[in-house]
Amino acid sequence: MSTSPTKPTVPLVATLFAGSLACLACGQGVPEDSAVTTLDVTGRVVFLPALGVTKVQAVEETVTFRECWPCRDRDDVAHAALVALPGVAARYGHGNAKHRLRLALDGLAALGHRPPDKLDAAEVSALMRHLTIPGGSARWAARFAPVMAADADPATSALHPWSHLTTEQRAALREGYGALLADRVARVSPPPRLAPPEGDPQACAMCGVGSVEVSAAEVHCHGGTVRAREHVWRPVRFNAHVLGGPRTPSAQQGNLCPVCSDETTKAGAVGAEAMEGSYLRALRSEGRTDEVASIRQGAVPRLIGWAGHDLSETSAGRPPVPPNEKPWEHILVRRRVATPCNSPSST
Ligand SMILES: [Zn+2]
Ligand SMILES: [Zn+2]
Repeated sequence: MSTSPTKPTVPLVATLFAGSLACLACGQGVPEDSAVTTLDVTGRVVFLPALGVTKVQAVEETVTFRECWPCRDRDDVAHAALVALPGVAARYGHGNAKHRLRLALDGLAALGHRPPDKLDAAEVSALMRHLTIPGGSARWAARFAPVMAADADPATSALHPWSHLTTEQRAALREGYGALLADRVARVSPPPRLAPPEGDPQACAMCGVGSVEVSAAEVHCHGGTVRAREHVWRPVRFNAHVLGGPRTPSAQQGNLCPVCSDETTKAGAVGAEAMEGSYLRALRSEGRTDEVASIRQGAVPRLIGWAGHDLSETSAGRPPVPPNEKPWEHILVRRRVATPCNSPSST
């Protein structure tokens, strides 16, 4: 209780020494041996004591900066990275991409981190996603252009690199850096498999597969496993008889895996046509082209969706069919068991 955790930070600034200008990124004073950058100022924040409020007054001014060599180096790093990544450069335009990456690298520098050794496409997009905005807002020049802060004075520089950062700017940078680290971890983690949402039947209502593989990065993008499960699995309501099971008095709730969801969209409804499309895809993915050809010629097996099968087994007093590891395993097992010559009790 003796100290205030929200005590504001006063930017640490100093008067510029003769002939120098502030570095547009880190804010330290730079002598006259480097190029000058001029930015337009279109507004100035002024305090109106009579009203006790601040407002932005329109102005037409310019303010000049230089750039110290450590900050200039980050420009070269951004340029080289994008030359090596023509796809990223083409997506944003080289100049725009370089500017965005440079701001993100400035954000890292403000936190005391060097540019990453490996700047591949995934790392560059993660940097742009998480640190371009807080990095750009943290630069010394952001205090002056396009709107000059009430306490910004062009005759000053930062006392030492990045000493002008406020508590809020540091917090925004740390938050962006935390998201960048989480992104890196997600990229190297093994791809998780996601079961249907908690509380629902734990397999695809049609093919019966119990989990779907997604990238760790995708889980991260959805904000965690719970949301990712809801995104990957498509909720559906159906009567078991459309899946080859018995007709029931009311519809039941289930989920479809992405493949069965896709086939259901193509067929227009949960049912035999969608199940056949999903079954054919499962056969093709296992290279079982002979069975695909025979189905094409009309030898369509009687398909029972996992939820239809499950329900009929349960109604007969037997335990529910467990989720499949591979799509349509419950059909394959049933067909194998039903083969008469394999059954010693059939004679
Ligand atoms: Zn600098
Ligand atoms: Zn499925």
